[in-house]
Amino acid sequence: MTREPHGPASIGILGGGQLGRMLSVAASRLGIRTHVFAPDPDPIAGHVAHRVTTAEYDDEDALRRFAGDVGVVTYEFENIPSAALDVLQAHCEVLPRRNALAVSQDRLAEKDFLNEAGLKTARYAACGTEQELVDALDVIGVPSILKTRRFGYDGKGQVRITDPGEAGAAWAEVGEAACIVEQAVEFECEISVIVARSRTGEVVAFDPGENVHREGILRTTTVPAGLSGARAQDAVAIASTVVSELDYVGVAGVELFVTADGLLVNEIAPRVHNSGHWTQNGCVVDQFEQHVRAVAGWPLGDGRRHANVVMTNLIGDEVLDVESLRRDPGVALHVYGKADVRPGRKMGHFNRITGGAG
Ligand code: AMP
Repeated sequence: MTREPHGPASIGILGGGQLGRMLSVAASRLGIRTHVFAPDPDPIAGHVAHRVTTAEYDDEDALRRFAGDVGVVTYEFENIPSAALDVLQAHCEVLPRRNALAVSQDRLAEKDFLNEAGLKTARYAACGTEQELVDALDVIGVPSILKTRRFGYDGKGQVRITDPGEAGAAWAEVGEAACIVEQAVEFECEISVIVARSRTGEVVAFDPGENVHREGILRTTTVPAGLSGARAQDAVAIASTVVSELDYVGVAGVELFVTADGLLVNEIAPRVHNSGHWTQNGCVVDQFEQHVRAVAGWPLGDGRRHANVVMTNLIGDEVLDVESLRRDPGVALHVYGKADVRPGRKMGHFNRITGGAG
């Protein structure tokens, strides 16, 4: 008699970048094959996957074949066209589910969802015309930040407004796209919580990490974050509410501002997250394995942290200068294998162990 392994033998991953690559490594460690779908002819996730489909996200035949080949589909980025989801869902389960994508693809839907769930955000208003922006600034005040509702990442599609007279220029700068304008928050620091939820509703959160950005791109994540125990517990409770309210399956990143008046939620990423890379060397089960476990229907792993870690991204040509890091004790180097070094491109990261978690 043969015994079937528990869960799918194969997971499909939409997107072929570093997050897909690290998901694929985690899956293969658990004996699960991955099939990567990406438009890129040589995706870096494909270097460590069982199969690769090179096709555009609107290639319905390719999507159908891909969905037919795997037990479940997941993704490493949130801007998946909804037509692609229609095709995939007709043939196969897609996790995290569509409602989480809908919320994270649209900053207005995201802010509305968070407030309806009883969570606090910066004050915000929608604006679809220049006049609506002018009216919104009357309510929100300045300084504020104008953000396109869709397709913003790493600070792109954002303009800071310090005087109401700048409304016209800001509106032109975002290309007159549908936007939200939100109050510029005076935060003490930025943190994020990486949280996992299983198919059975079990929730496991990693400790909050403190994030420092440079030119809109994450530079470092430090754990433990410089927070009181009560604040850290609040942050974990907020992230748990987010995934429970969404009936979410998988790993999510919840970004928060720490202010004098408490925590405000900035953004939800329905996927593994750059600010969770520290878990690779700070926890027994990292965020990538946790995500694979969740979508495969396994029980979640232990999210406790056994080390203090500083994660640093290697951006652009910083990756060419890793000789000293290779020799550095206490440093785990992660290089993504991207062929072209470009300014602002995430090329790798390293986790420095700075102590044992008391
Ligand atoms: P986002 O794309 O919304 O994550 O924004 C990128 C970065 O811009 C954040 O990590 C913050 O550093 C900054 N930022 C975004 N929204 C606000 C805000 N309402 N107040 C202050 N800083 C913000």
